[in-house]
Amino acid sequence: MNLLNRDGILHISLLEGQARAILIESTGLVQRAKEIHGLSKIATAALGRTLTATAMLGSMLKGKDESVTASIRGGGPIGTVLAVSNEKCEVKGYVDNPAIDLPRTGPKLPVGAAVGKDGRLTVIKDMHMREPYVGQVNLVSGEIAEDFAMYFTASEQTPSLVSLGVLVSDEKVESAGGLIVQLMPGASEAAIQSIEMSAGMFMDISGTMKECHLDGAVNQLLLHLQPEVLELRETCYRCDCSRERVERALITLGAKELGDMIDEQHSAQVDCHFCNKRYAFTEDDLKALLAAATAKDDKK
Ligand SMILES: [Zn+2]
Repeated sequence: MNLLNRDGILHISLLEGQARAILIESTGLVQRAKEIHGLSKIATAALGRTLTATAMLGSMLKGKDESVTASIRGGGPIGTVLAVSNEKCEVKGYVDNPAIDLPRTGPKLPVGAAVGKDGRLTVIKDMHMREPYVGQVNLVSGEIAEDFAMYFTASEQTPSLVSLGVLVSDEKVESAGGLIVQLMPGASEAAIQSIEMSAGMFMDISGTMKECHLDGAVNQLLLHLQPEVLELRETCYRCDCSRERVERALITLGAKELGDMIDEQHSAQVDCHFCNKRYAFTEDDLKALLAAATAKDDKK
């Protein structure tokens, strides 16, 4: 980790294995998302929290090329908030309305009002099984940390504390981070109590990251829970789109759709949602894709 980008994820054992924590510093990757999408402060907080939580979910994946997608649709003016992580904790994401602005009603950015709470958090894990794992919970508040806590508790049956924080000034992301604390099966009553009593300390995670960064945050937040760091992982914002992938997606549209596109538009532009890269296709490019789609249809 260099000084400019201190992002990382720690897996930590607590109370001699009766609980575990995942702690992340995500300032760099949230700043990258803000730059790519030109996010407003509220959108930075909403997408930043979601990217931070999804990177932690990504760090729980085991196999090569596995991925996890978290999407939040709460009916609020920000629209959909979506983030994806692979098992290397490379994350990417977007919001429907990156320019969202709402008046503040308290000291914190009104993320819950922007997201809304009339909807669901959906988590899809693609682990190369026949079917992906899909978990879904109703939103608690649209503040995102509480919604992920509900997801872990209800959908994965693991009682969890989740704290997510993004501190954003007009110019940049000052700090961002997250913490998940989960009880392991068989945790003693005493262990449960010590964790519940610490919950208040976990709330200001962006303040803690700004002050102490990842390594200092372990002792700052978890010292009384006998933390034992098991693993340090890198994490970053990275989009893995490519012209080949976009071509494959166009071919899946099918011959009819591609034919219509050629007749009506004579060209196509495809923008990547995650990094805003633009892929342009000429009429000849589209005809080549149409030939591939036709060949594929014939094989069926
Ligand atoms: Zn992309």
